[in-house]
Amino acid sequence: MEYQNTLAFAQQLDELDGLKYLRDKFLIPQHNGSDAIYLCGNSLGLQPKAARGELQKQLDAWQCRAVEGWFEGDDPWLGYQKQLKKPLSVILGAREAEVSVMNSLTVNLHLLMISFYQPKDKRYKILMEGKAFPSDQYAIESQVRLHGLAPDDVIVEVFPRDGEYTLRTEDILQKINDLGDELALVLFGGVNYYTGQLFDIAAITQASHTVGAMVGVDLAHAAGNVPLQLHDWGVDFACWCSYKYLNSGPGGISGIFVHQKYHNDTSLKRLSGWWGYERATQFEMKKGFVPEVGADGWQVSTSPILLMALNKAALGVFEDTGGIRYLREKSVRLTGYMEFLINQINQQWGEVWLKIITPTDPEQRGCQLSIICKQYGKKIFDHLAANGIIGDWREPDVIRLSPVPLYNTFTDVYHTGRVLQEALLLVNEVK
Ligand SMILES: *Cc1c(COP(=O)(O)O)cnc(C)c1O
Repeated sequence: MEYQNTLAFAQQLDELDGLKYLRDKFLIPQHNGSDAIYLCGNSLGLQPKAARGELQKQLDAWQCRAVEGWFEGDDPWLGYQKQLKKPLSVILGAREAEVSVMNSLTVNLHLLMISFYQPKDKRYKILMEGKAFPSDQYAIESQVRLHGLAPDDVIVEVFPRDGEYTLRTEDILQKINDLGDELALVLFGGVNYYTGQLFDIAAITQASHTVGAMVGVDLAHAAGNVPLQLHDWGVDFACWCSYKYLNSGPGGISGIFVHQKYHNDTSLKRLSGWWGYERATQFEMKKGFVPEVGADGWQVSTSPILLMALNKAALGVFEDTGGIRYLREKSVRLTGYMEFLINQINQQWGEVWLKIITPTDPEQRGCQLSIICKQYGKKIFDHLAANGIIGDWREPDVIRLSPVPLYNTFTDVYHTGRVLQEALLLVNEVK
């Protein structure tokens, strides 16, 4: 698409946008009495207007029915989780039985590693992306120690080549091959939180399986952001959080994916609880754990209905989009527009002031662009904030800006470009 750096052009794209009605389904934060430009959906997605109503419904059910709410009403709590599977399975490219909603993300990562990281003899290594999200690093370290092994012997990280910021798929695949029969598990983010790089999950999965390793994916920055085909790719397990691109509120409920091929595998170890018990007989309260077939067999505790109500409201918005592919089309154009505007600014300055470290290829990114400023990064970021443009700052020097197709507009992106340009003039004046 040929972009133009004018307000009229951005407004025209907004008018032609077939998904523009979706923005009205969200509550937009305010800045000086008007809508802020919210580009931080990578960290905390905005509140869907439907969230309050869904929450209220369950508060009312609790008030009116109390304990009977588990069994009575339109939406009995006992089966409440089941209705979240369908919209999630569409977003993830999964079968409904492969999806279960529970706990929070890092907790789920632990539960899944208990099942899928089983070091044996010389096959004990774990491959992950360098600079993965810290919580994932800590979780993996501690799982390794749980097996009496030393993290330094076990964990192998792949880093970008010298002078590069993101990973080349060929280097990841090479590493997998090199590790060969020493490799027990490959655990990658779907989209790296820092650089915004979307990894080729299909290729990574295929290469890992070829050498006999398991594959797990942390989809925190991928779920609701990029198209996924977990089932067809053959990913062994995955987990995500719902408060980023899935807009389900701070600390919102997480979920897991366990591939169908394990649904009747009783050899997998797991940390069990009564909520993962075979549904038909759960309340017979018998001795001896019998797992429910499918991802639900990994459930541990009573469903947190209030968090699930928020997840339900937010997933409802995705169901209204007519398909994740339409969202993706808009996302590619929206992020492409931001990239175009930033490149224009660099051209005007005759040097790269705002270096985008996220891959240029839309197939290798979601909506986030990560930008390293030549100088004065924090000042530039503060100027955005002072103008009601909310992104985030990640130490040591990255500004992350994520135009989200559900609620951001081309006009939002245009104004961001304008304010960035202004910020450069400002920091260069005070030099
Ligand atoms: C956001 C994020 C987390 C956060 O985990 P919580 O358990 O929800 O605090 C973990 N991993 C990745 C990759 C993330 O992006």
